[in-house]
Amino acid sequence: MQGYVLPVTDTLDDRIDLRSDTVTLPSPTMRAAMAHAALGDDVYGEDPTVNALERLAAERVGKEAAVLVPSGTMGNLSALLTHCQRGQRVILGNESHIYNYEAGGASALGGLIYHPLPTAADGRIDLDLLADAATRIDDSHFAPPGVICLENTHNRCGGVVLSPDYLAQVRELAQSHGLPLHLDGARIFNAAIALGVPVTALTAHVDTVMFCLSKGLSAPIGSLVAGPADVIARVRRVRKQLGGGMRQAGVIAAAGIVALNEMVDRLAEDHVHARRLAAGLAELPGIQIDLNRVQTNIVRFDLAHPRLSVSEFLAALRTHGILMGSMSSTSIRAVTHYGIEATHIERVISVAAEILA
Ligand SMILES: *Cc1c(COP(=O)(O)O)cnc(C)c1O
Repeated sequence: MQGYVLPVTDTLDDRIDLRSDTVTLPSPTMRAAMAHAALGDDVYGEDPTVNALERLAAERVGKEAAVLVPSGTMGNLSALLTHCQRGQRVILGNESHIYNYEAGGASALGGLIYHPLPTAADGRIDLDLLADAATRIDDSHFAPPGVICLENTHNRCGGVVLSPDYLAQVRELAQSHGLPLHLDGARIFNAAIALGVPVTALTAHVDTVMFCLSKGLSAPIGSLVAGPADVIARVRRVRKQLGGGMRQAGVIAAAGIVALNEMVDRLAEDHVHARRLAAGLAELPGIQIDLNRVQTNIVRFDLAHPRLSVSEFLAALRTHGILMGSMSSTSIRAVTHYGIEATHIERVISVAAEILA
C-alpha cells in the first residue's frame, strides 16, 4: 500500500507515565529475542519458544504445567471456567480485579455466579466469611460453590501483599470444603520480592495461579496459567474456546522468557521508588496515604484539597507531562515500573508540591 509508513521506533516521549505498569515497553533484549525466536504453530504444540516459556513458567511457580494466554483476563477466565460448571459460585473479594475489571466474563460467558465478599484494607477476606460462602448447603435453593479466588498483590487495595500464612489458611479452608483455590497473581513476583520469599512460598498454596508478563515484567503481551498438568490441559481447551489459541506465539513468548529471566529481581527498584513517591506525597497538603499499605509498586492515595478535585489535580499533573490514574472521585493510583527512575520520582513530588501549594 502506497503511503503506508511502518513506524520503526518506539514513541519515547518525556512523559512520566505512572498510570500503570502495563505501559512498559519491551527491553532491547526482548526486542532482539522476539526477532530471532524459533517459531512453530502453537495450536499444534509446535512452537518451541512457547513450549520453553511454558516449561520455565511452570518451574518458576512450582507447578506441573503452564499455558500461555494473551491476557490476564483470559487467564483468570479460562481458569474459572475450568474449575467450575455453569450455575456454580465464584467466591471472591468485592475489590478484586476479576469482579471489577474483567467485564463480568465468568458470568456473561460461563454462566457462573460471582459471590463477592468484603475485602479488608490489607487485601484479605475474612476466613469466617469465606467458610460460610464455601459451605455446601444441601438444598435446591442454593447455587453450589465452585472455586475460591484470591488476589496477590491486591491491585485495588494499593498493591498490598498476602502472606504465605494467610494463603495456607485459605488453602486449608478450601480443601476442607472440597474447593479449588485460584490465585489472581497478576503481580505475584512483586509480592514475593516484597516479602523476600521465593515465589513458590506463595504459589504452593493454590491450585492454579495466573500471572502477567505484561505488567512490571515489561513484556508486551502475555500471561500464564499454571497448575497441575490435568487442570492445565483443560485450561488449554477453554483457551481455545475463548479464541486464545495462537499460532506463531513464540514472538510473544520470547519476550516472556526474557521477562522471567531478567526482569523479576529488578522489581525491587520499583518498590523503592514507590515508597519514596509515597513518602514525598504524604508531606503535601490534601494528600492522605497509609504508608503501611505501600508495599510494592502501587501508590494509592486520597486527595481532599481545598481547591482541587481529583480530576483537576490529575489534569494539572498532565500539563507537566505526569500521568496518574483516578480510582474514584477521591482516590488516585500511581504505579512505578521499568523506565521510571529516581529522578522521575523526585520530579513528580516537586511538581505535585507546586500544584497543591
Ligand atoms: C492487570 C491485571 C489482571 C489482568 O489484566 P489483563 O489486562 O487482562 O492482562 C488481572 N488481575 C490483576 C490484579 C491485574 O492487575
